[in-house]
Amino acid sequence: MSIDLNFDNVTLAVLTLDGKLIRLKRFKTPHRRILTHRIWIERIQGRYPRSWRFTKGIREAIERHGERIRSTSRDYAHKLGDLIAELALRFRSVVVLEDLEKLRENGKKNRRFNKRLGLWFYRRVQFCVEYEARERGLEIVKVDPRGTSSKCPRCGGKLVENGYRVLRCRKCSFIGDRDVTATINLYKKYVSRYSRCGVPGVVLNAPKPDEAPSGMRGNRDEAMKNISSCMNSYES
Ligand SMILES: [Zn+2]
Repeated sequence: MSIDLNFDNVTLAVLTLDGKLIRLKRFKTPHRRILTHRIWIERIQGRYPRSWRFTKGIREAIERHGERIRSTSRDYAHKLGDLIAELALRFRSVVVLEDLEKLRENGKKNRRFNKRLGLWFYRRVQFCVEYEARERGLEIVKVDPRGTSSKCPRCGGKLVENGYRVLRCRKCSFIGDRDVTATINLYKKYVSRYSRCGVPGVVLNAPKPDEAPSGMRGNRDEAMKNISSCMNSYES
């Protein structure tokens, strides 16, 4: 199971070791709600730049927004961690996460993560996922997230944006949902790192870009059959 975190969504994919996609789920993050509270705090502080620290009423108003931010993220991270770990347990999955420390090392601006939120929220979600997964005796692996949302999972070519949340490869004809592509790349990084004897040359089935991962509309089998040969390994 590989998990991609970004501003709007948490996307997870469960894949077999020979590259068959068996589950795809997407959860909305409460980021926009959190950001709204943060904007309120900044607005209040901006309106009373000198006095907000010393006026009880103002301080309390700020505190209320702060508390909402904390409880929202706490509840969300806990629920999601539990849910993900339960699903991973059901499939006896290894849980593959992005190494957020690597993300910082890479140093480059990462558009997936909103600057105002920083990495704390993602860390908290990961912490809960890890904690719950360990409790269930599952293995957790962290891989370098570099290139997971810019590299074609089929040929290794550069991906360019192709409409809202959709990426397209310039070299081959691969087109995929941004978040799903990231989970496939994370999975591939895990597989290439841990299977020394090489991956069987099995094709990886990816859903159509217009297919919504959560509760995939239409014929599920049809979506699953839309096979793109992502398993022809590329050098990462
Ligand atoms: Zn390609």
